[in-house]
Amino acid sequence: MTQKILVLPGDGIGPEITAQASRILAACQARGLDVEVEEALVGGAAYDAHGEPLPAETLQKAKEARAILLGAVGGPKWDTLEDLSKRPEKGLLGLRKNLGLFGNLRPAILYPQLASASSLKPEVVSGLDIMIVRELTGGIYFGQPRGIEERDGERVGYNTYVYSESEIERIGRVAFEMASKRSKKLCSVDKANVLEVTILWREVMERLAPEYPDVDLSHMYVDNAAMQLVRAPKQFDVMVTGNMFGDILSDAAAMLTGSIGMLPSASLNESGQGMYEPCHGSAPDIAGQNIANPLATILSVAMMLRYSLDAPALAARIEAAVGEVLDDGLRTADITADGVMTVSTAAMGDAVLAAFERQ
Ligand code: NAD
Repeated sequence: MTQKILVLPGDGIGPEITAQASRILAACQARGLDVEVEEALVGGAAYDAHGEPLPAETLQKAKEARAILLGAVGGPKWDTLEDLSKRPEKGLLGLRKNLGLFGNLRPAILYPQLASASSLKPEVVSGLDIMIVRELTGGIYFGQPRGIEERDGERVGYNTYVYSESEIERIGRVAFEMASKRSKKLCSVDKANVLEVTILWREVMERLAPEYPDVDLSHMYVDNAAMQLVRAPKQFDVMVTGNMFGDILSDAAAMLTGSIGMLPSASLNESGQGMYEPCHGSAPDIAGQNIANPLATILSVAMMLRYSLDAPALAARIEAAVGEVLDDGLRTADITADGVMTVSTAAMGDAVLAAFERQ
């Protein structure tokens, strides 16, 4: 059955990088991938055209799509909008919420060709391949009650860190299944020495473990996990954690690779519908100059093929093509040690496409 894919270029460098990723998607179609690709507006671009960062038409198309490829949203043009509900980021949050995208997969892979781009010693990071599974729709970012109010003559701010057993269980299953397909090591990160909510988190992970006898489950407190990520990151394979800890740890892990322009991500719901996007933002400082790195977005297409479209062979082909262009020394400025690029955005897209066809 033909599956629908929605491409949302967004703002800043979004249109430039999704254009290159869409060419790879078209090459997959030519090789038999049975998909229908549509485009729509989101973020600042949607606000400019329709007065809303997530127009009803875009949301409807997103609901009907098996997978969404998003560039990035936001930029200084919209930072001064007084009505916060109209800010570009609300478009992204609205998509996550409406589609129930609770499982965020953030790989941190260091391509050996780029080891010198990391701020850590090459021997510490070379060969790094971590998958962080972050819960995305619950925890302290969404817990109620929350607010700032007057108490005993001064203002007090508060939030609620809450997870139900079912929320922990569904993200736990995503992580256990991911671990069983990789090196069978899963580290669950919590703060069970201080926070009751993460005592429950740990209990639920332990309860799931016998269902995945091939996976070796360990637990680590979040402060230690942060330390271990920069001390000896290669000890980790799959990590699973809540929304806030995952937000922080996945950015730290991303930076181990030294190259924000290389990192894809996926956000999935219970039916395997997913939104795929690079980890970086809309980079307004370099937008429209044909110098942005499109590889994170191209690698997001590979994740889409693997996790929503059940086409792992095409995914592997894209990843191999990216490896080949790096072997050939092609670099946008963000992945060079000296900041001097050897190819433009479009030329990088050309090279990946050519390598894909050669595979
Ligand atoms: P950013 O990731 O956009 O940029 C940080 C730095 O990295 C900039 O110097 C940028 O030029 C560079 N960079 C980012 N992606 C690159 C690429 N593909 N190739 C080469 N260089 C790249 O983060 P920021 O500057 O903090 O945010 C800019 C805007 O993006 C803001 O409006 C922010 O809200 C938004 N943002 C959006 C998302 C998203 O859509 N998911 C995520 C983060 C930030």
